[in-house]
Amino acid sequence: MLSDLTDNSAPSASRTTDTFGRPLRDLRISLTDRCNFRCTYCMPRHLFGSEHLFLPRAALLDFDEIERLARLAAGLGVSKLRLTGGEPLLRRELDVLIGRLAALDGIDDICLTTNGSLLTGKRARELKAAGVNRVTLSLDAIDDDVFKAINDVGFPASKVLNAIDNAKAAGLGPVKVNCVIQRGVNEHQILPMVEQFRHSDVVLRFIEFMDVGTSNGWRMEEVVTAREIVDTVRTRHAISRLPATTPGETANRWTFDDGAGEVGIIASVSQPFCGGCTRARLSAIGELYTCLFGVHGRDIRGPMRAGATDAELSDLLAGIWQRRDDRYSEIRGEQTAERQGDADGRVEMSYIGG
Ligand code: SF4
Repeated sequence: MLSDLTDNSAPSASRTTDTFGRPLRDLRISLTDRCNFRCTYCMPRHLFGSEHLFLPRAALLDFDEIERLARLAAGLGVSKLRLTGGEPLLRRELDVLIGRLAALDGIDDICLTTNGSLLTGKRARELKAAGVNRVTLSLDAIDDDVFKAINDVGFPASKVLNAIDNAKAAGLGPVKVNCVIQRGVNEHQILPMVEQFRHSDVVLRFIEFMDVGTSNGWRMEEVVTAREIVDTVRTRHAISRLPATTPGETANRWTFDDGAGEVGIIASVSQPFCGGCTRARLSAIGELYTCLFGVHGRDIRGPMRAGATDAELSDLLAGIWQRRDDRYSEIRGEQTAERQGDADGRVEMSYIGG
């Protein structure tokens, strides 16, 4: 049935390396396109309002399907799974799924990215017990008014700080906190965020504002670059660059010279890291994207629900990765300022989970 779908004739040792020799190592799995926040750089309310149609439940991959695809991906070299959304904690019985994923051969790291709104102490302990190793939370400001303006649902920063404490107490660390910096919105929060997390064992990572999707009105002028962020931090604290811990790591790592911990910067715009990108993304309805800035995902759910065998699905996944030549952030950098960020139907972050 799949002969017309898979054209990678000879399975070879390079089954899981793309056209630039990048191995497939990380699979990010979006569990839902729904979220209880309306962050302006991701799900702006004017586009994701009460009229917005989210994916119907029947369209979502069920746990059997997610487990099967994760198992097949592990067979191709994937060792790290990141569970995302939308907001993944909105997906019911998540612990059951996590337990099944944690039992898969070859998967040795399960992380979860959350806005923290549902991460109570009890929930954090349950996620740990089910098999989550680490969590990353999003917090774009310490100032409540600024944070509420960004999440656009009036959610206070203090509650995310509680969730961070819950994650630490449950042993879901090292806990990382992502903070998207957008000029004119929250660049004045860089130093308050640094002060909040110095001496805390939490790794704060600043993220350059990115042109993900087509909804956030991205403009290059609103990008506060890694260079600017480092310079801002250095107005108060001496920091030194650290080496990457893993190949393909997204964040530039910096340490406070006075021993107060680490801070990271994800500089997709000013310092692209496509060369080491080993990440594939699975949408909640089973489309495989090979780049965060992808326009089209390849449908895996269709062949799977049509009765494809494990071998056929594995060939399909391997073939997609083998033909991969994505390096959007590098290309963006090569474009003229006028062309940078031209919206061309890129998939929304809330759809494939950052
Ligand atoms: S732009 Fe695409 S290829 Fe480059 S690092 Fe991001 S996801 Fe990977």
